[in-house]
Amino acid sequence: MKYAVVAIAVPLKSFYTYSFDDSVLSVSKGIRVKVNFAGRPVIAFVVDVQDELDKSLEGFAIKPILSVVDDQSLFDDEAVKLALWMEKFYLCSRGEALSAMIPSGKRDTAYSPLSADDLPLSQEKALNEEQRKAYEAICSRPGESFYLFGITGSGKSEVFFQVAKHYIEQGRQVIYLVPEITLTHQVQAMVASRFNGRVAVLHSALSPSQRIAQWRRIRRGEVDLVIGARSAVFAPFASLGLIIIDEEHESSYKADNSPRYHARQVAQYRCSINKATLLMGSATPSMEAFKLMKEGKLARLDLKQRAAGGALPSIELVDMKGEKSLLGRRLRLEMGEVLGKGRQVILFLNRRGYSNCLHCSSCGHTIQCPHCSVAMTYHKSSGKLVCHYCGSQMDVPESCPECHSTDLIFGGFGTERVEVEVKASFPSCKVARIDTDTVKDKKALASVLKSFRDGDIDILIGTQMVAKGLNFPLVELVGVISADSSLSIPDFRAQERTFCQLVQVSGRSGRYDDQGKVILQAYKVDSPAIIDAMNLDLEGFYEKELIMRDLTEFPPYTRLINLVFRSKSLNLAKSFSEEAAQVLCSSLDKLKAAGRCSQLPQVIGAQECPLDRIAGSYRYHIVLRGKDFACMHELASKALALLKVPRGVYVEVDVDPVHLL
Ligand code: ADP
Ligand code: ZN
Ligand code: ZN
Repeated sequence: MKYAVVAIAVPLKSFYTYSFDDSVLSVSKGIRVKVNFAGRPVIAFVVDVQDELDKSLEGFAIKPILSVVDDQSLFDDEAVKLALWMEKFYLCSRGEALSAMIPSGKRDTAYSPLSADDLPLSQEKALNEEQRKAYEAICSRPGESFYLFGITGSGKSEVFFQVAKHYIEQGRQVIYLVPEITLTHQVQAMVASRFNGRVAVLHSALSPSQRIAQWRRIRRGEVDLVIGARSAVFAPFASLGLIIIDEEHESSYKADNSPRYHARQVAQYRCSINKATLLMGSATPSMEAFKLMKEGKLARLDLKQRAAGGALPSIELVDMKGEKSLLGRRLRLEMGEVLGKGRQVILFLNRRGYSNCLHCSSCGHTIQCPHCSVAMTYHKSSGKLVCHYCGSQMDVPESCPECHSTDLIFGGFGTERVEVEVKASFPSCKVARIDTDTVKDKKALASVLKSFRDGDIDILIGTQMVAKGLNFPLVELVGVISADSSLSIPDFRAQERTFCQLVQVSGRSGRYDDQGKVILQAYKVDSPAIIDAMNLDLEGFYEKELIMRDLTEFPPYTRLINLVFRSKSLNLAKSFSEEAAQVLCSSLDKLKAAGRCSQLPQVIGAQECPLDRIAGSYRYHIVLRGKDFACMHELASKALALLKVPRGVYVEVDVDPVHLL
């Protein structure tokens, strides 16, 4: 009998030991096995194999391994190191770290090979002066970090491709991260044609066996470049030379379940242990990246011109106060003109559905989701109220559940309502809408985008799906229906997110000529995010926002750790979060007495989360905030070890959260 020490993807710190008969099962370090855990079979990662049972376990009943999943090791020494680092940094278990890293079937991404049939040619372009300067800087200083700060349409991708090619010629491998939403078929095919098919593409919804097959291809050295969303950052290359992070500011690079890793942080770590180059890029950097560049800690490379010609669009801000329709008079007029010339229009609104909410005009009550603390959204096509957090649906009530008045009115609006108004105002135009309600899969999205590119659609209405990295030569006007709608979200990044979104969506207009126009409709016309976006004053916005963050003590001037306590029982969530706050405060006193912190962190809360209820769970949180990260990290880690989490309570740990909702 032999023994395997395994890590399991549960939020516990410990490892578990199982036995096996080595004449029957071949178990080695780095493979996955099936074991019984808490009464059900689960997948576990073998981290060690021992000939004898550890002394400390003598007398315990050791359960046998049920079966072996892999015949070859899935992770190498670097992966082991990385898992250990994730465990420490993100305060998760080893099993959680490993299962985030290794495609296991239940998680988000997959690798798929490309068939050679449908590859469009993607020709290498001669770099312009700015691109060449950036290229030379990056290739001449391997192992350093760079930021390609280039306006929309400045040709960042061409620089990424050529730098990648350079590193591959040096015998190194490349990871190219893009937001899932921009990983279109077109992009995949382009990458495959540039790198002779020696690529692996990660995208959602492939079978577990396909995922593992690609993982093995990478480990066998058959791949030079991996392109994919967040989890592609874990690709097991033997000689990693370069990690590219396109659209670095995107919040989808942050994982939303444990371990809540940020692909940028993982990339930094992997680059440092592999002496690899880190190349990030965006037209709208995160505040973190901007501050690093300003302080000279991250090499900034500017691209200030559009590579294929075409001026930046002219942007007009329209005050919507007193307007009767959600399409203001100015926007209607411009739409008429552009459409009359046979050119195209994109309308952007970051909200799905027909009307945002249903409220009672007698008592002011808003119909809420019965399980979440958010308003229900009316969807005209289904005739139902839908919760955008938990997905639950209900019929439209005939009277107010609070006061029984029948004066229920729709307030706010979503893309579906915009579509209705547009069709009524421009009856002879072809209109299409893309959001997660109308396009359920990649194929449907691709076909709408193709008809739009071919000119078969005149007006495209969409949520952020239309804002990202798309190029449509015939688009002359972009209308943002409600530029200030995301400003009222109660989060410290609301201004930053609004600004980035407006600049990115404006970049969709006039990509190939000088006619591009953008109309921003808003009520809060004096907000910095909107005014600076209108003027495309990037430096101005970032400088002001940095001052605000400094004054209000938010990142990047402080670091945060968010601890969320959720439970179906309000009492449990509340009382346990209060207990946790006490443990944190007394640990803080000990740290203070020991005098080891350069600056003591604040313990904020326990209090209700801004979204105090999601899918029937009540949510309380404690925020640790401070400038001495090592100190607050130690505080969180010690307190979490001391806490005895009761049954029915879940603790979510978020190191460097991207929001505090
Ligand atoms: P970004 O990613 O910076 O927004 P893109 O990479 O989409 O910009 O490039 C915008 C357009 O410019 C694309 O159509 C691309 O083919 C073109 N382009 C890029 N580099 C060059 C170049 N050196 N010469 C001519 N056209 C270029
Ligand atoms: Zn009422
Ligand atoms: Zn809900």
